[in-house]
Amino acid sequence: MAIICLVEDEQKVAAFICKGLEEHNYKVKTAKDGASAKAMLQTTDFDLLILDVMLPDINGIELCRQIRQSDTKTPIMMLTALDQVQNKVSGLKAGADDYLVKPFHFIELLARIEALLRRKIVNDTEEHILEFDDLKLDTWSNIAERAGKQVSLTAKEFTLLELFLRHPNKVLSREYIAEKVWKIDFDTGTNFIDVYVNYLRNKIEKGYKNKLIHTVIGMGYVLKTDK
Ligand code: CA
Repeated sequence: MAIICLVEDEQKVAAFICKGLEEHNYKVKTAKDGASAKAMLQTTDFDLLILDVMLPDINGIELCRQIRQSDTKTPIMMLTALDQVQNKVSGLKAGADDYLVKPFHFIELLARIEALLRRKIVNDTEEHILEFDDLKLDTWSNIAERAGKQVSLTAKEFTLLELFLRHPNKVLSREYIAEKVWKIDFDTGTNFIDVYVNYLRNKIEKGYKNKLIHTVIGMGYVLKTDK
């Protein structure tokens, strides 16, 4: 069952949307303002967010922009009043996926939500298998393979390799790797990133002709083929 977060301060509108969605087997959690919406997002993994533009504490477009700084994937639908159609452009620029003008027929909202959720499922399915050259990573089963042979990696090595596979042919700095894999600020006094990259290299390159992770002196590392 998909869980939807609805951020709307007008009780009547919120109740109308909530009732309709629950009748269609969605689970809905409602927030009356931006602050409580953000608190809810910390503790619940939603499948979709519906944000009204006019909220008591923050503009829904700004809220959308803030959410997108840490969550780029969850579909966001904006609701806006008819006299604020300029919000459409701002909303989409802020990272919303779709927008609907109030008043709307419930069936229209439902159709848009279903379309966004279908798109999300397709994206999620496509992205869990990552491939580069003869490397393959399944982020659901946590299986890594090179040339069809399974490679045994630790959790951090797996996350590090996933980071490279999500950014092939791009130079990743040690700072970026530290932040993404270890969630820490890089301390230039240590070389643990280099140590981990070497662990990973040993596991995915030893016994194979092609090198995949290359050092870019003074900059970081890049996943690319020699060919
Ligand atoms: Ca409102």
